[in-house]
Amino acid sequence: MLESSALATSAEWDLFSKVGKYDHEQVLVCNDNKTGLKAIIAIHNSTLGPGLGGTRMWNYGTEAEAIRDVLRLSRGMTYKASISGLNLGGAKAVIIGDASVDKTESLMRRFGMFVNNLGGKYITAEDVGTTTQDMEYVNMETDYVVGLPVSRGGGGDPSPITAYGVYMGMKASVKKQYGSDSLEGKRIGIMGVGKVGMHLVELVSKENAKVFVSDINKHYLNEAASKYGATVVDDIIGLDQDIFAPCALGAILNDDTIPNLKCSIVAGAANNQLDKEDIHGPMLRKKGIAYAPDFLINAGGLINVYSEWNGYNRENAIRDTEKIYQTTLDIYHKADSMNIHTQAAANAIAEERIALMAHIHSRI
Ligand code: NAD
Repeated sequence: MLESSALATSAEWDLFSKVGKYDHEQVLVCNDNKTGLKAIIAIHNSTLGPGLGGTRMWNYGTEAEAIRDVLRLSRGMTYKASISGLNLGGAKAVIIGDASVDKTESLMRRFGMFVNNLGGKYITAEDVGTTTQDMEYVNMETDYVVGLPVSRGGGGDPSPITAYGVYMGMKASVKKQYGSDSLEGKRIGIMGVGKVGMHLVELVSKENAKVFVSDINKHYLNEAASKYGATVVDDIIGLDQDIFAPCALGAILNDDTIPNLKCSIVAGAANNQLDKEDIHGPMLRKKGIAYAPDFLINAGGLINVYSEWNGYNRENAIRDTEKIYQTTLDIYHKADSMNIHTQAAANAIAEERIALMAHIHSRI
């Protein structure tokens, strides 16, 4: 059970300045002593629709860390949904605690009751530290949950569709840099061959790309090599390659790594790849590297669960994920015409759509 004393509360953080900084609409603190539930649900922006975002369970060191995470992640979901053309707002939840120790059926079901009380303003799903099994518990208390197993009418593991979206973003980037979107013969370095990375290896191998992989897990490396003929390398960042696909860690594009990149495209699944958006986005542009914004090209998983919300249909989810190709090209076009980096262009497109939808909905 989570001990409240384990949370070092900082008296220094000021709630409303944090919530107001990115204009969050609503932040709900959920507490239940008996089950040990301590959760925060943040709804950033619901202009486009109900806020959809996963529930992360993490052993945060302080309450301030948990609130910072939920605010940052929920804002990210607003942009991801908007750029993907979905009628969804941005939201996220965090449960404070160690998922391997503190998570119980009663805790997840109590959390589901809090989600239910929001009456559909927030739709939850699995995230780091939660599983489809947990979502089944949540589903016992609320219908406002997606990411259910296939056996329960859900879309199941979103990773294959996420990888497919990354593949679409990659092909659009190749089209921009080389004139044709064929990956044949292209040297592609995939960092992290976990759930998404391995599916990506499969997709690009089918197009006869030359695939290089790195991972800290030897088992996955062996699988990528034996199943798909990928070449295992130690230094994937410094590799001479056409496309670098980060599919492991965030903040991988930073002051140390960017000077070492020898590629013309970065297109991968990892979230928050740019360490500092305003510094590292322009740095990539200056080097002539086409960067496909992560929050667009890894949106296949969100598109998949969104499809679940409307009665899951895999063909629709795949078709909608294919739109990532054109949106990636639109972003490159906007970035070039405004001489801005691609992440800034993607942010602008996402913000524009929200502003326009707010405008039309203000009309009678
Ligand atoms: P995963 O945990 O299955 O795979 C990550 C892989 O990266 C693991 O195999 C891990 O061993 C490896 N790794 C960790 N540190 C590494 C390092 N220093 N060098 C090389 N490899 C390293 O996760 P996933 O579901 O495949 O997600 C990958 C990334 O994509 C994450 O950043 C995730 O947030 C993001 N993402 C995933 C989805 C999805 O549908 N799964 C959706 C959107 C975004």
